[in-house]
Amino acid sequence: MVSKIGHRQKEEAFLLKSVDYSDNHRILSMFTSSQGRLDFIALGAQNSKKRFSGVLDYLNCLRIDFIKPSRGSLLQLESVELIQEYTALRSDYDRMQAALSWLKLLHQVLKPYGVVPGLFLLMNEGFSALEQGDGLWEDIVFRRKALGLLGYGLQLEYCTHCGNSEGNFCHFLLEEGGMVCESCHPLKKNPIMGGFFSKFPWEFSTEPPQWLKDRGAQARKILDEAFQNYFAL
Ligand SMILES: [Zn+2]
Repeated sequence: MVSKIGHRQKEEAFLLKSVDYSDNHRILSMFTSSQGRLDFIALGAQNSKKRFSGVLDYLNCLRIDFIKPSRGSLLQLESVELIQEYTALRSDYDRMQAALSWLKLLHQVLKPYGVVPGLFLLMNEGFSALEQGDGLWEDIVFRRKALGLLGYGLQLEYCTHCGNSEGNFCHFLLEEGGMVCESCHPLKKNPIMGGFFSKFPWEFSTEPPQWLKDRGAQARKILDEAFQNYFAL
């Protein structure tokens, strides 16, 4: 918790959400490296290019400088510097869409001061990976790993009931925390073609095999469904 009143602090951060406030200010939600999600007011931010140097934008890794004022609940953003911009990510629609969806997702699932160990690193690695990837694989890896870090790791490699990893069809059962095989599923509806997502390493650095590329949209849908249900989005 931030408790020192008036004490100046620095953090690395990603901007999650920004809304204009009053004539000239902005209310910002940021994902910081050591204090999780923090909410700020940036006084004069709509016009001040000097203090915020034009870098206070999505898809930048920032170093921020802020204070906790003696009144009011919002932290006060003092200045912002650019640590890293992701130019290749910004130049591609699918990559940019994936990155923006992560920001939106984290804004929805993180409470103020909610710290999730490993999540900031995952974000950093994910943005770096998006500089080169096609967007879909990185999106799948990010969502899968983020779910795990948030306490909802899914079993997608084999049946959560019997351990079977074979078969051409399987089913995603949220209440089981993952996939089940054809014979373990009670209703046998909505089967997933092509079976389990194998024991493949789900890492940004791994080149996804063709079978997973073919079912990428399906894998992303499963992960989306999990987020929507676990976090009531
Ligand atoms: Zn089974």
